[in-house]
Amino acid sequence: MSTSFDLNDRVKVIEDPTKNVKQIQDRVLEEIVTRNMNTEYLRRFLDDGDGQFDKEHFKKNVPVVKYDDVKPYIERVFNGEPSDVISSAPITSLLLSSGTSGGAQKIIPCSNTFLENFLFINDLRMFVTSKQVDGVERGKGMMFFFATKPPQIHAPCGLPVWSATSSYFKSDYFTHRPSNWHTSYTSPDDVIFCPDSRQSLYCHLLCGLVRRDEVVRVGSFFASVLVRALKFLEDFWKELCSNIRLGHISEWITDPDCKNSVYPILGGPQPELADTIEHECSRKPWEGIVSRLWPNTKCVETIITGSMAQYIPALEFYGKDLPLISTIYGSSESVFGINLEPLSEPRDISYTFMPNASYFEFKHVDVDDDHGIVDLADVKLGLYYEPLVTNFSGLYRMRVGDVLLVTGFHNNAPQFRFVRRENVVLSIDTEKTNEEDLFKAVNIAKLRLESSALRLTDFTSYADTSTVPGHYVLYWELSRAEDDPELIPEVLEDCCFAVEESLDAVYKRCRSKDTCIGSLEIRVVRDGTFDSLMDFFVGEGASICQYKTPRCIQSSAKALDVMEERVIARFFSKKCPPLHGSIVFPI
Ligand code: AMP
Repeated sequence: MSTSFDLNDRVKVIEDPTKNVKQIQDRVLEEIVTRNMNTEYLRRFLDDGDGQFDKEHFKKNVPVVKYDDVKPYIERVFNGEPSDVISSAPITSLLLSSGTSGGAQKIIPCSNTFLENFLFINDLRMFVTSKQVDGVERGKGMMFFFATKPPQIHAPCGLPVWSATSSYFKSDYFTHRPSNWHTSYTSPDDVIFCPDSRQSLYCHLLCGLVRRDEVVRVGSFFASVLVRALKFLEDFWKELCSNIRLGHISEWITDPDCKNSVYPILGGPQPELADTIEHECSRKPWEGIVSRLWPNTKCVETIITGSMAQYIPALEFYGKDLPLISTIYGSSESVFGINLEPLSEPRDISYTFMPNASYFEFKHVDVDDDHGIVDLADVKLGLYYEPLVTNFSGLYRMRVGDVLLVTGFHNNAPQFRFVRRENVVLSIDTEKTNEEDLFKAVNIAKLRLESSALRLTDFTSYADTSTVPGHYVLYWELSRAEDDPELIPEVLEDCCFAVEESLDAVYKRCRSKDTCIGSLEIRVVRDGTFDSLMDFFVGEGASICQYKTPRCIQSSAKALDVMEERVIARFFSKKCPPLHGSIVFPI
């Protein structure tokens, strides 16, 4: 994929590929297989062929795999064997996927093609945004980007191991980026690279506030980061204003590169600017604070689909009338697609797959064997699929673990709604609760808080099997609309019940037999717990930019400790959810 298309060609760059999905996908697969025919991995499956590319032969012989199946090959490259164990193109780095959904981190091989694809899709989505959000080209982005965690580790083979976003920010593609509006940020690059995320966040805000008139978009890759940044601003605005007033950066900002790069932007004492910001920040509530502090902002740009959807209310509150746009869908395995209608309502967001990024297949989620697998061009409207990726960096028919729903087509390119991450389940007995079920139930239950001046800000869960019978535990962090509202037991017990009532029939059936599943429990944690959880995962190597609150922390005893240490109250459901109306097959 070329990244150097000129502005006038860009419509062509969207229209042509989306019209010729099948031809492009066949060509991409042919290129990948022909180039990689002699890798040890593909030879194992394709050796009985005649050495020529044959799509049917590929599909028949190369297995559909999960990460654990290819892990031994990736580990060999990690430990120093040549890239051609899996890929003819040199592996240039190893990407640590956020992997916090399943608890475990994956290491994904990356070649330059990944970054070129990312740049291409990035340019494309910004082009689409500029056509639909008026004025977004006339200023800078205040984007909360971070690129240093994990501290650059090297595998025994010498390759860096880092997140996909860090690999981009640390690449020549970013360092030598052409200067255009969509790569122009309020923060200098050294703020992105600061090894301490709090110092980095503080300096992002400081630069953004000083350059407030230039800001036309505010964002981050994932919504959780942006909400965290705005909460941080709530805690630190007085100190930020004092820095602006005095033209002096707080002593705790010690990273020399960060500090030296921010001083020239601060540009000496600015008491009037400090007064204006102080005036806005001291006005409560903070509804619409984004446009009050950054009056030229045209949009809030961050991913709000999937598990990020729970941050929509907070962003709608801070952003008020600003459009909330979610433009890109991708992973460490491949970039997938963009949202061609960035101004659509959150519930209507769909991503159009770009057929030139990788070769994509789709596994029908309700069909267990490989017969349910179709090409990108053959997916059907209204069906749920998991994407499989064959890419230019050594992955062949690898399951991504996301579930997508086909919602439409742009020309011949399918558009998908992100439904959920496949592998997140709570399970005590025969019931299986996935991320989507859990979200739905929590979203219903949190409405019951309304009477008590409390708001749910974040949650995670685990299936506690140390009790007999085991039971679901939800950790809830609550924010207060009033100074110190009480935790009223009846309200929280009712929330427990509402979650149970909203879970599926199999859960209720298990719950109705007291021996299968016990009462659901909500453990309220103190303020800032989910920031600590993020710090914990970042400390373990997760990327801040790609971080998503894990909805289940079953597999990490240490993460559970982080939560347990901060529990301030516990509540249990007081009754069993009724079974009526539920169709339950015999267990
Ligand atoms: P990572 O490999 O760490 O970048 O994580 C990739 C995963 O993040 C994907 O497989 C999705 O589960 C999730 N993700 C990425 N983009 C989106 C999006 N636009 N909406 C919802 N989830 C997303």
